[in-house]
Amino acid sequence: MTLLTCRFVFPSCFPSLRLTGRCVQSFLLYQHTQNSEVGFYIKMMFCCYSFCHAEEIPEDLSVSELLERANTRFDNEPELIEGDIAIPSEAEKNADPCTSRGCKWGKYTDGKVYIPYYITNHFSSREKSIITRGLESFTSFSCIRFRPSRSSDRDWLQIESQNGCWSYVGRRGGKQVVSLARSGCLYHGTVQHELLHALGFNHEQTRSDRDNHIRVLLHNVVSGMEHNFNKIATLNQGTPYDYNSVMQYHRTAFSKNGQPTMVPIPNANVSFGTAREMSRNDIARLNTLYKCCE
Ligand SMILES: [Zn+2]
Repeated sequence: MTLLTCRFVFPSCFPSLRLTGRCVQSFLLYQHTQNSEVGFYIKMMFCCYSFCHAEEIPEDLSVSELLERANTRFDNEPELIEGDIAIPSEAEKNADPCTSRGCKWGKYTDGKVYIPYYITNHFSSREKSIITRGLESFTSFSCIRFRPSRSSDRDWLQIESQNGCWSYVGRRGGKQVVSLARSGCLYHGTVQHELLHALGFNHEQTRSDRDNHIRVLLHNVVSGMEHNFNKIATLNQGTPYDYNSVMQYHRTAFSKNGQPTMVPIPNANVSFGTAREMSRNDIARLNTLYKCCE
């Protein structure tokens, strides 16, 4: 009955539907209260809508693992470092453009940082809603306001479905692509991760102080991929090293043999790199960089 009604109400998205906890809950509630027929259909609509807009997050995959899974299949253009950071030239491989020349987006007189974006029409409405949810999440915890671009905008993020998930670090000027491939990148945490790059942030494991918190085991890293663990003068903004950052890669990132490429210090068993969305430190760092509270 449940799925049949779902199919009837939202036929176009039926193939991707899954029975979620929320839906089960609303049916239990229905059975309990024995509401009117109308009440039942309202709940059914809500339930099916939730289905259609649910992100099908592969079980137990962190943002870092999702990125690795999405990005290992391609020879990317532009060149990517650290798995998902686009660089315009070889010279920028070891430099953080944000510390060398500034990369912040401008702040307006009302204290907000408005960042224009344009989502290309590669995406379905369901996929667009995942992207929009990621963009809008910043409104709830910072002064960053992503807004649709206008023809008069000089700098903007162009969100496209190219090969894999990637972004440049910081504002580069003009049109700036953020790639969120339809296959593999459309998850809330992945969208937040790429937007944080565009806002000026690097990966946690490249922090200048990372050797106090992570031991990098280069002998387990795929040959030629060692540069992904170079340290950078990152924008830490006084925040502590955060194993739970959405920018922290997982234990076996870039591993050639399944063995760890990073081990936490001093307790090697501490879990890390498992974030599915921005952590409190990610938010604090963002608010400090953009002086959201001043
Ligand atoms: Zn990244």
